[in-house]
Amino acid sequence: MSKKPETGSFVTEITPRSEDFSQWYLDVVRRAELADYSPVKGCMVIRPYGYAIWELIQQALDVRIKATGHVNAYFPLFIPESLLHKEAEHVEGFSPQVAYVTHGGGEELEERLVVRPTSEAIIGTMYAKWVQGWRDLPILINQWANVVRWEKVTRPFLRTTEFLWQEGHTAHETETEAEDETRKILDLYAEVCESVLAVPVIKGIKSDSEKFAGALRTYSIEALMGDGRALQAGTSHNLGQNFAKAFDITFQARDKSVQHVWGTSWGMTTRLVGAVVMTHGDDSGLILPPLVAPYQVVVVPIGRDNWRETVLPRAKEIQQELVAAGLRVTLDERDERPGRKFAEWELRGVPLRLEIGPKDIEKSQVLIARRDTREKLGVPMEGLANALRELLAEVQRTLLARALKFREDSTVRADSYDAFKQLMEGRPGFVIAPWCGSADCEAQIKNDTQATIRNMPIGGRPPAGRCIRCDNDARAEAWFAKAY
Ligand SMILES: [Zn+2]
Repeated sequence: MSKKPETGSFVTEITPRSEDFSQWYLDVVRRAELADYSPVKGCMVIRPYGYAIWELIQQALDVRIKATGHVNAYFPLFIPESLLHKEAEHVEGFSPQVAYVTHGGGEELEERLVVRPTSEAIIGTMYAKWVQGWRDLPILINQWANVVRWEKVTRPFLRTTEFLWQEGHTAHETETEAEDETRKILDLYAEVCESVLAVPVIKGIKSDSEKFAGALRTYSIEALMGDGRALQAGTSHNLGQNFAKAFDITFQARDKSVQHVWGTSWGMTTRLVGAVVMTHGDDSGLILPPLVAPYQVVVVPIGRDNWRETVLPRAKEIQQELVAAGLRVTLDERDERPGRKFAEWELRGVPLRLEIGPKDIEKSQVLIARRDTREKLGVPMEGLANALRELLAEVQRTLLARALKFREDSTVRADSYDAFKQLMEGRPGFVIAPWCGSADCEAQIKNDTQATIRNMPIGGRPPAGRCIRCDNDARAEAWFAKAY
């Protein structure tokens, strides 16, 4: 049997997370084969392993989006420039990031086309056609798509010029319905993050300067990454009647008057893959929550030279049994030392490793190693699928609890601006502080500390005391952090 050289596909060296978080992230993304750089500046290639994680996130989201009464549709990639210009704030917010198509079929176009940075303009135009009377409402449509926002500084998954997402766009009869929808989706997003990705989030409202261009108000969910920086993991916008007025989406109301619809839009993106990496990973690489792990279990046969005859057949049977029981399981039968295989699958974050050798077969058991705690335990082959299912659930719970504890340990209140500045300089995490609501104060704080208001939690404490910076009466309790 031929031995592979020591290098090659078994490259598992990464910068330790504790040493350089930023480099660690890039190393993990590349070495775990989640994504690679592409010849197009700012655009990444999502490799099969990374795409499999995205697909699992996508499925979890899609099921919930449909269960709440929404349906999927698809709108064009190109938007005539004039449509984007119909909503003034919207175009102002997005124009620095817009890519245009100027030629097609060898000819210059009469009107430039925008490559969608988001689809309010094209969808609003269609809704204006589709909505006549109150019976046509609500419209509850979601689209899975790619969008393009020209970025100067990019980072795989977190910020790329092209990215994948879902964007929901709804139209309603009343303001209350639109607000309910906005909040319902925010809850749905938070639930996906916490129960599927094991990423705890803070649900809250954005300040005016951070809201979506053209929205009445924007809600977000904010997560805390392993280096103490915040990551906006999803947004849900109450558009009010702004887009309805810009795109003339009117309907005949129950009282026969003609009114504009009330709109919402909301999105989550491939950035969530980055959130998973940065929330759970450690010095050895990725740690994937079982619900989004492309492989939940890797089977590694252990044995001397003749392991292909003595161990492999039983290992294959076990893999097949587990797959039949609904688990995602891969078998690593490459000719390599087990230790190297262990390191590679640890790097790739597989939640459970199943080792099986001749002695295990004699004893009718296997050895299971948990990626999250590194515990090892013997498990009988009898009832193995159920035992693993329980262990996977336990890993999922442990990851969420660990992330939640990290966030709690990294969240403090500041009672003076000096203390605030010191906290932002010295330690990562959220700092909670009262804020007067002025954009000036917000900008000054950002200038002094690089920290931004992530959001103001829903159901948070009522504002008390004085603004952390200007000493005027506080209007809200805001969560500040340096953010991605
Ligand atoms: Zn202030």
